[in-house]
Amino acid sequence: MIARVEPLTPARALRGPFDYRVPGHMDSVGVGSMLVVPFGRRRVLGVVVETASRSALPAERLVEPLAAFGRALPPELLRLGLWVAEEYCSTPARGLGLVLPPGTGTGTAPRVRPRRQLFATLTEQGYDALADGSRLGRRQRAALDALAGGGMEAAALLRSTGCGHAGLRGLEARGLVELSRVEVGRRPRVRGVGAPPQRDATLTDAQVEALAGVVARMDAPDPSDRRMLLHGVTGSGKTEVYLHAVAAALERGRAAIVLVPEIALTPQTAGRFAERFGETVAVLHSKLSAGERHDEWWRLRRGEARVCVGPRSAVFAPVEDLGLVVIDEEHDSSYKQEGDPRYDARHVAERRAHDAGAVLLAGTATPRPESWHSLRRLSMPGRVDGRRLPPVELVSMVASGSVLHPRTRECLEQVRAAGSKAIVLLNRRGWSNFLTCGGCGRVWGCASCDVSLVLHRAAARLACHHCGHAEPVPRRCPECASVSLARHGTGTERLYEELAAALAPLQVFRLDADTGSGQGAIDEVLTGFDAARSGVLLGTQMVAKGHDFPEVTLGVVLDADATLRFPDFRAEERTFALVAQLAGRSGRGQAGGRVLVQALDTEAPALEHATRHDAAGFVAGELARREVLGYPPFSTLIRVVCSSREAGPQARAAEAVRARLYPLAAGGARILGPAPLFRRKGRERSQVLVKAPRRTPAIRLLRTAVETVSADRAHRGVSFSVDPDPQ
Ligand SMILES: [Zn+2]
Ligand SMILES: [Zn+2]
Repeated sequence: MIARVEPLTPARALRGPFDYRVPGHMDSVGVGSMLVVPFGRRRVLGVVVETASRSALPAERLVEPLAAFGRALPPELLRLGLWVAEEYCSTPARGLGLVLPPGTGTGTAPRVRPRRQLFATLTEQGYDALADGSRLGRRQRAALDALAGGGMEAAALLRSTGCGHAGLRGLEARGLVELSRVEVGRRPRVRGVGAPPQRDATLTDAQVEALAGVVARMDAPDPSDRRMLLHGVTGSGKTEVYLHAVAAALERGRAAIVLVPEIALTPQTAGRFAERFGETVAVLHSKLSAGERHDEWWRLRRGEARVCVGPRSAVFAPVEDLGLVVIDEEHDSSYKQEGDPRYDARHVAERRAHDAGAVLLAGTATPRPESWHSLRRLSMPGRVDGRRLPPVELVSMVASGSVLHPRTRECLEQVRAAGSKAIVLLNRRGWSNFLTCGGCGRVWGCASCDVSLVLHRAAARLACHHCGHAEPVPRRCPECASVSLARHGTGTERLYEELAAALAPLQVFRLDADTGSGQGAIDEVLTGFDAARSGVLLGTQMVAKGHDFPEVTLGVVLDADATLRFPDFRAEERTFALVAQLAGRSGRGQAGGRVLVQALDTEAPALEHATRHDAAGFVAGELARREVLGYPPFSTLIRVVCSSREAGPQARAAEAVRARLYPLAAGGARILGPAPLFRRKGRERSQVLVKAPRRTPAIRLLRTAVETVSADRAHRGVSFSVDPDPQ
């Protein structure tokens, strides 16, 4: 048999698959097997993507694999990995890297091994020795006593009895104790923050109706479209619908994948699935240890767990017979991967659900125009508790000298007086946005990027938010020696100090990337805010995600239209989602609530619709606008960025890529650029943007164009990145 093997090498130039002759003793090798193969002078790990009875290579040039690891990868995952590589202009090795068991790496041996522990049990002689008062040391006796109640892990036994390793080995030598190595699963801890789900188990009419819609699609015998959008306002009980839908899939003997934006920020959601389904839930995310990830993956692969909850990478969970994929908060931008392959988990989920005949259920309070346009809609317009959504007030910041409007101060003051809670969102971290010299007007900018540096006062640093560069805060201007340096703008760090001073003794909690991005740091802030009798939670967009704090009576969004000042066709959508999501966090308890939105342009349609909680109206307007401009969902957008150290080569490369795209233009695509982008991480950048009416041919042609141009020696030193569906 011939195995066609895709080598897992990061090199872009190597394009498999390559043929190998499988010897008779490797009879278990098949599609999805992992092999160690000789490759030139090296040995590399590869995946069998196909088998055949004959090869085009002459027999004497065919070599045999060196080792086989058995059939690791289900064929449908193999196909999915290769499809992602094609769809996102990446390499097969990188696409396969997404679906392989965690810890596979590109070496020739798996890097993560199952964890084994030494386990001690008492033998029959051991029981006799305890009974007849044999000569034993005090600690050895304590160890035997402890084991009389049942075997236990050796390390724990030694800890609890003070018996040493030598003592234990002595007991083993005398035949009183048996020691064995057993494999133990490493389980991640799923923690819940904030209020536990205390709603009653009976569903509202809207939930019942939505669930029935999902189940009907699950049971429909025809392979018609099973993609659905659950549009439910915040607090409408979408998670309960997901839970019931997962239960329905499990009842039908099928598995489920539940995608959540970021586990660290939404532990409540992950926790609810674990509570409801127990051991059949596996959690996969990047904050797990390598061992935990390895073990959770294999629990899914062996079918011991049938529900996988996790962020975007969980879309590749190795479950078989998939019946349901849930995408919670489907508007969230974290579903798009930043690095190569730049996949969008929502798009991959559609593909995977389609191939498996599974239902796709995307839920949100603020649907994307793409989803609204193409998915079957289910609607839950009211909150489960019957409360109305809080009133939203727009406050104009034109001619305001302060970061907080008097009206905002007044409402925060009421929160303090009433002893309730508020959430304040300012999507800008650090102390101030930039620093200038009062003497000569110098602006402190990043040496590697064309952006200004942000002052972080506690860290005493000026930092670049694009490349991570940081430098000490200057005392004087290096150009004119002036010491009058001015700080402009306000970030969360500065606002924290202002609020803490103005609202004392009310406690202010700050949540942004500087207060810690680890699970521990985020948990600490969220549990602290939840446990406090009253307080203010201040932070970047992290505070608008999924938390449920019933005592919050005030939500504030500062500089709400800042996002609209960026030239991005998704700016409107982002602004609407940010305000609407934060509005949903307020007024979920007895005391009701209100929301204040501070903005310069209070007439921006995104803000006006958000004040009316009018997602449908907003999306309708957005779709009309995008149809005119030829933006998604009425086209596929693909971005090519060329970059180089010096100015010039990147622009010529972008021009060369564009020149190869004329067949697309002839087919109705619009090609924009090359246009310069701001310098980032020391690299000059140029971009070509394609708006194509048909997706697949456009991606194919772009891939070829970029491959041809990048192989041309005239464009040496230029890096290329192709990003379909850029965010
Ligand atoms: Zn100066
Ligand atoms: Zn920088």
